[in-house]
Amino acid sequence: MTRYRGRFAPSPTGPLHFGSLVAATGSYLDARHQQGEWLLRIEDLDPPREIAGASDSIIRTLEQLGMTWDGPISYQSQRSHVYEEALEQLRQQGYLYDCGCSRREIADSAVVTEAGSVYPGTCRNGLPPGRSPRSMRVRVDAVTSRVQDRLQAPLQQQLATEVGDFIVRRADQLFSYQLAVVVDDAAQQISHVVRGADLLDSTPRQNYLQRLLGLSTPAYLHLPVAVDSKLAKLSKQTFAQSVTPDDRHGAVIDALRFLRQELPDSPHDASRDELWQWAIEHWDITALPACRTLTAPADYVAPS
Ligand code: GLU
Repeated sequence: MTRYRGRFAPSPTGPLHFGSLVAATGSYLDARHQQGEWLLRIEDLDPPREIAGASDSIIRTLEQLGMTWDGPISYQSQRSHVYEEALEQLRQQGYLYDCGCSRREIADSAVVTEAGSVYPGTCRNGLPPGRSPRSMRVRVDAVTSRVQDRLQAPLQQQLATEVGDFIVRRADQLFSYQLAVVVDDAAQQISHVVRGADLLDSTPRQNYLQRLLGLSTPAYLHLPVAVDSKLAKLSKQTFAQSVTPDDRHGAVIDALRFLRQELPDSPHDASRDELWQWAIEHWDITALPACRTLTAPADYVAPS
């Protein structure tokens, strides 16, 4: 039997807010309920989007919330060499190519679908004359990708017509999230991924890369994402309120309620550790709401 190993993988784009607390709580409880390990990975791959001090602030908040992780914290910013190797492997397999298109050119010629715009394949068979390489893309085969989620309805995606050849190294030379997450989940032997449903549509791309790179595919559970009344995901951009030190306990209770988990009588009277112990024992994935978004309690959304 595979040993359960889960993870929480925040991007340090701001302090921990209610939406990320929900992902942390769900992944933590699912792992601990199954006597599994829970790892912490800081996805600091994108310096332009990073906020100084956010990694430390997230780590400190998790500690203060009483969540304990196994092993050292890993940082994607220290793993460029591993992502380089994965790109090299894709290149040798003939799946990687240089793309010289700018965003504007793609916007002008791309087919737009519900999932976004589909790259038209301009550089697929070599850079057109006069173009220099900007980003790197992975060639996508005409296959149907199926995701069997532990909570959400099964997902089918035709990568070729719905996504197109996708970027694995950006024009600013940064590695893409899709590449790094796949390489790291495999390197850390993650058996179960529990995260927000905003990433469900990325899963077929990740499964595709796993197949190309010969890596195993973890089990996935995509939790409903906390949104505000305008259905925007809580984030730094939507000015989500961070989880504050004075009501951490209340925030965990709210996250458990959001996930429709059973609470002890008078949860506010339980100690921090008693609350976690209860939540671990009573974690019940059949109670989770199988939807992609849910409105967050008003305290955690931007003041209007
Ligand atoms: N770093 C991503 C985020 O903060 C999560 C990645 C994942 O769980 O796969 O949204």
